[in-house]
Amino acid sequence: NATTPPNFIKNIITEDLESGKTKQVVTRFPPEPNGYLHIGHARAIWINFSLADEFGGRTHLRLDDTNPTKEDVEYVNAIKEDVKWLGYDWENLYFASDYFEEMYIRAERLIEKGKAYVDDLSAAEIREMRGTLTEPGSNSPFRDRGVQENLDLFRKMRSGDFKDGEKVLRAKIDMASPNINLRDPVIYRIAHVSHHNTGDKWCIYPMYAFAHPLEDAIEGVTHSLCSLEFEDQRPFYDWVVAECEMPNTPRQYEFGRLNLVQTITSKRKLKLLVDEQHVDGWDDPRMPTISGLRRRGFTPEAIRNFIYETGISRSQGLVELQMLEHFVREDLKLKAPRTMAVVDPLKVVITNYPEGEIEWLEAENNSENPEMGNRQIPFSREIYIEQEDFMENPPNKYFRLFPGNEVRLKHAYFIKCNEVIKDEDGKVIEIRCTYDPETKSGSGFTGRKVKGTIHWVEASQAVAAEFRLYEPLINPEALEETLLGEDEAGEAADKPEKTFLDQLNPNSLTVKQGYVEPEMKEAKPQDKFQFFRHGYFNVDTKYSRPGSPVFNQIVSLKSSFQL
Ligand code: ATP
Ligand code: MG
Ligand code: MG
Repeated sequence: NATTPPNFIKNIITEDLESGKTKQVVTRFPPEPNGYLHIGHARAIWINFSLADEFGGRTHLRLDDTNPTKEDVEYVNAIKEDVKWLGYDWENLYFASDYFEEMYIRAERLIEKGKAYVDDLSAAEIREMRGTLTEPGSNSPFRDRGVQENLDLFRKMRSGDFKDGEKVLRAKIDMASPNINLRDPVIYRIAHVSHHNTGDKWCIYPMYAFAHPLEDAIEGVTHSLCSLEFEDQRPFYDWVVAECEMPNTPRQYEFGRLNLVQTITSKRKLKLLVDEQHVDGWDDPRMPTISGLRRRGFTPEAIRNFIYETGISRSQGLVELQMLEHFVREDLKLKAPRTMAVVDPLKVVITNYPEGEIEWLEAENNSENPEMGNRQIPFSREIYIEQEDFMENPPNKYFRLFPGNEVRLKHAYFIKCNEVIKDEDGKVIEIRCTYDPETKSGSGFTGRKVKGTIHWVEASQAVAAEFRLYEPLINPEALEETLLGEDEAGEAADKPEKTFLDQLNPNSLTVKQGYVEPEMKEAKPQDKFQFFRHGYFNVDTKYSRPGSPVFNQIVSLKSSFQL
């Protein structure tokens, strides 16, 4: 989907091009490299790349790396990989940190114009004096320092004369503004920390709200598209571009965040799950990160189609998980080979089948896509079936195997259960059946009918496999607010809300040991299959080994979801 459905941003761009205000559309996707991208970011990526593309414009990938305490090259590399994997190509790759010198020069210009001052108040004092929505803030006692004093102090901040937190540079706007973001926001802080890109060159770093508009303006971004929590920042964004006398005037427009039921879309919370080892890294198949979805088996096509369907609007409703699952089923339906896997094995001995003999049966690879051809599968005296496909004392309407009943083995024969073998505890460990050679699949047998068809794997050639079955990481009762990303103020305060950890689903991962068909020996990481009745599975990139595959369940087969 290189295009977007009708939306308000498209209308704005169309007008800007018609009026001549915009010559060429330039957008950017500006993640901070302080974590891995998640499904919410896929919306921002799609919006920025598709809107520019539709109008013959270009999109930059910009690493917004102005806060070295949280950032790392590991994240830079993961972000690049994920954007590429989703199918987007950036025109230019930029680092905000490459603009530190220019930002510094602009900050000095603000000081010279009397629009910025060095403040000695502590972070706590600044927060206290900021006022509230109903109360104006109060001026810092350092607000009226002269231009030369401010310049000297700011230069000393840069050269490392002060400790972290000792001084900040603030924009001088209006402590009584109804928009709290305009109450003399901090624009530079001291942090004696190495930066992944600039090393130890700097010990002062620009704040996000000051840096971002400058980055956009420096790159000639025309439409700066971001999620709704930045709406209140827009007046300051415009103030920075104007007062710093930037040659380009980017405009910020906000769209609604993508929020999914039972899904964490906050990088800081996802990081906490990783750091506290509630999950197996950022790419744990339960994680809503792009890398987690990839390892789980979701495809870029499915994610893109899903994102497209959620559209571009300013509302931030919750989207059902079933909608994402619907699109991966749609994508894999005709692509994934359909084979048989037994997740909870029960041995079946076919007593009238000759011992030591194997025959090869023809099986289609995808009943809905004949182009995928056929394969040969072995059949012999011993097979595995699913434990749930046998019941000793079945209820009414149970059409699978039980003593005295006959069922069809998919791609093979009818078998009838005659005997049940149990261990000392009374657990069924084997069943004995007979088969009817007349009923071979594809032979046109019509002599009698059976109501149930079950899947199976021949025992001597079966490949032992691990199956990993998933549920959402979060309980269904969890309050959505506790899962979502917070505003930038919350991020700056650096207090990850831990309450969501009480809402972790203890059943999010179930590991099973079973069997798959012999040719699965060749299965490679990221190969995808539909296992009869179990749904779609992906070969795990981390734990799978040649000859002993590990499969992640992407999604089950059934769904009541309707678009
Ligand atoms: P989080 O809030 O999850 O920690 P973030 O907003 O801090 O993430 P950034 O790296 O700053 O992450 O985000 C890059 C871009 O992605 C921003 O423009 C932001 O608006 C957008 N974005 C982040 N989360 C979502 C979401 N859930 N839906 C849509 N866009 C999002
Ligand atoms: Mg951020
Ligand atoms: Mg955020």
